[in-house]
Amino acid sequence: MPFTVADVLAAVERLWPVAGAEGWDAPGLVSGDAAAEVHRIRLVVDVTADTVADALDAGADLVLAHHPLLLRGVTTVRESTYKGAMLARLIRGGVALLTAHTNADVVATGTSAVLARLIGLEATVPIVGSDSVGLGRVGALAQPVPLGGLAARIGEVLPATAGGIRVAGEYGREVRTVAVCAGAGDSLLEHPAVLGADAYVTADLRHHPASAAVELARLGAGPALVDVSHWASEWVWLAQAAVELRAELPGVDVAVSDVRTDPWDFSIVQASGEDHHR
Ligand SMILES: [Zn+2]
Repeated sequence: MPFTVADVLAAVERLWPVAGAEGWDAPGLVSGDAAAEVHRIRLVVDVTADTVADALDAGADLVLAHHPLLLRGVTTVRESTYKGAMLARLIRGGVALLTAHTNADVVATGTSAVLARLIGLEATVPIVGSDSVGLGRVGALAQPVPLGGLAARIGEVLPATAGGIRVAGEYGREVRTVAVCAGAGDSLLEHPAVLGADAYVTADLRHHPASAAVELARLGAGPALVDVSHWASEWVWLAQAAVELRAELPGVDVAVSDVRTDPWDFSIVQASGEDHHR
């Protein structure tokens, strides 16, 4: 008996229980027939024209996306809208769409746990949560490294993006304990576990929260900041998710899409001028 969309949903619930999702989140089946057969699954961070085309080209029956396509109220799925166009292409192509978002962040092998492991952190615990389940991770490197070395290591383990790795802190500052939050983690900037770390690795740090954290660090203890691509920080989790799905659904072809959905295409590194300085 081939697996169905309903079987995939059941497997997803075992791996990333929906009860673990944030209240505002909308994980689960977005479109598709629960009774449809599933032979090929594509894993993506974002549903975009490129990842949908990639899934259709690959002959996938189901796309598992980390980010929900439908999160806020939608009053139309006309195809002149981004979301309508994506849904129409998936439905016409016979491809179901399923989301595992914050429920996949918090588990023991979730997005932040994978990022922490790739960075080389040991004895990690959630920033918010208990035991092995919760948001973010904080742990220690086996050997202290300069902040610049940590950033270089992160640049090696993450896929390349136009924005690269941005750092607030002295290049040579010694780093031993590191807090990480895959995706947008500015809500954890003032958490005691983050303030107590030597560095905080996350994505989408905006000017005001980042600036406030830098100034707070100058007044006392606080981490250096390492700002990475949101997509890259979560894309690395997909390989782990694929391993777990293959074990749950033997015989199903489960593959990670290598299409980059970081929105930026290039950046210009400016020569440092003499008219502005810290
Ligand atoms: Zn995210």
